[in-house]
Amino acid sequence: MFKKILITNRGEIAIRVMRACKELGIQTVAVYSDADKNSQHTQLADEAIHIGAPAAKNSYLNADVVIQAALASQADAIHPGYGFLSENASFALAVASANLTFIGPSADSIRAMGDKAESKIAMKRAGVPTVPGAEGLESESDFKKAAKEIGYPVLVKAAAGGGGKGMRVVNQADELHEAIESARREALNAFGDDRLLVEKYIPNAHHIEFQVFGDQHGHIVHLFERECSTQRRYQKIIEETPSPLLTPELRAKMGEAAVNAARAVNYYNAGTVEFIFDPALSSFFFLEMNTRLQVEHPVTELTTGLDLVQWQIRVAAGERFPYSQEQLTQRGHAIECRVYAEDPANGFLPSTGKLLQYIESRGPGIRVDSGFRADDEVTHFYDPLLAKLIAFGESRETAIQKMQSALRDFVVHGVTTNIDFLQDVLAHPDFSAGEVSTKWVESQPRWSQPNPSFESLIAASLADQAIVNRQSSIENRKSEIVNEPDPYSPWKNPNGFRN
Ligand code: ADP
Ligand code: ADP
Ligand code: MG
Repeated sequence: MFKKILITNRGEIAIRVMRACKELGIQTVAVYSDADKNSQHTQLADEAIHIGAPAAKNSYLNADVVIQAALASQADAIHPGYGFLSENASFALAVASANLTFIGPSADSIRAMGDKAESKIAMKRAGVPTVPGAEGLESESDFKKAAKEIGYPVLVKAAAGGGGKGMRVVNQADELHEAIESARREALNAFGDDRLLVEKYIPNAHHIEFQVFGDQHGHIVHLFERECSTQRRYQKIIEETPSPLLTPELRAKMGEAAVNAARAVNYYNAGTVEFIFDPALSSFFFLEMNTRLQVEHPVTELTTGLDLVQWQIRVAAGERFPYSQEQLTQRGHAIECRVYAEDPANGFLPSTGKLLQYIESRGPGIRVDSGFRADDEVTHFYDPLLAKLIAFGESRETAIQKMQSALRDFVVHGVTTNIDFLQDVLAHPDFSAGEVSTKWVESQPRWSQPNPSFESLIAASLADQAIVNRQSSIENRKSEIVNEPDPYSPWKNPNGFRN
């Protein structure tokens, strides 16, 4: 087993990975940019190494500097988390060349699934159903011909895409020109690659994905599905498992397709096979495979009882994954809400600023994965995800009730959040019925912030006083630390050090 792991990520994901390392008795090394000098992930690690300026390209995306940091700290493995360098085949190779272990799949698997056009071709070969479409198109007339054959509406998509970028729905031929131009521009900007593919746009679709997991001895299973249809701008906001739409037969069929997809690229470690599901026809199509741990992994953990990050580390160290497909079961229902610092009434634009007050919900069946505390700053440099709130219940109804109660308890002052918006979605009859499709959020009447309630006005007027009080208690604590006479006293150390 590894002795020390460097985590090349920040915020809640770095903290999540560190927890698994600590449980396994492994030392942790954090990396941080100037903007994260005082952040929680930096303080919770056993060591922390500064890697550059706030902009991700000057720090968290700088592969050379990250590998140097791992060598300097004598780590034996690197966990990439998700985002940043997690789906970068050259990074995985560079890590291996430096005699370090990359905690994830092989560089070959990452490469094979990294391109939406090539992966679709590989999946067709492996007998996995894919969305009808065409790849490798060059001229506009090729696109026009292909779109006509497929039948409108179609979706123009960046081959190198991710995070919902470079995608345009095209309803009729005369919209195609503009869609291709703007998708190309966006793709070139975001990925440095402007290749596009076109596929059938499936209306009222659901996004249903399967967690897959494999070891390096050829054993691969799926850990059931996640329904991720509540989205804005093609990005997930609420995820749950099991999906309210799947019958046991469909689940078995889709699970088998997911395992076949993974097997076709000799996959090991954690991965997700995403499908688009057409409820009208009860048919499903491969969308893409994400060759990493996913934001929404906690709902799978709560219903299967497995710790996915611990298992990622264990199989990367060469251990066998001990459970057969038949031994794996799911119990109860879990929902995750992504609590974002963003303004649903203003196109879900990120909201930045200092967290004047921040209190996470607690309670039986509630899990919070986060990287923020009160007084932290939400900056424009990174994703504005504040926390992931996860509720577990014996049934879908109880999980929803617990989530609603936990959202009521979650206190965030200083930035605008999507908490009220999440409450509205959960309370909507379409959500209770499991009928929310990927376009549902955008098809709702424009969402606007409610007028401030009586309670919130009282809270606002009390906030100033509360901040003054808390500031003075922090000052007291600081003077206690300074005045502690014994220099070796553990109480003199205000950070996350553990013996
Ligand atoms: P998921 O299906 O897991 O939500 P996304 O593609 O939306 O996958 O990416 C997950 C998260 O990873 C994003 O919310 C973002 O924080 C981060 N991320 C994605 N792409 C990048 C990137 N190119 N650079 C940095 N972070 C990224
Ligand atoms: P990304 O890499 O950005 O996650 P995906 O191909 O996984 O891209 O698609 C993201 C989202 O876009 C899906 O969850 C779904 O909402 C929508 N989408 C993608 N392809 C289709 C399609 N053919 N028909 C309808 N919606 C689609
Ligand atoms: Mg996707």
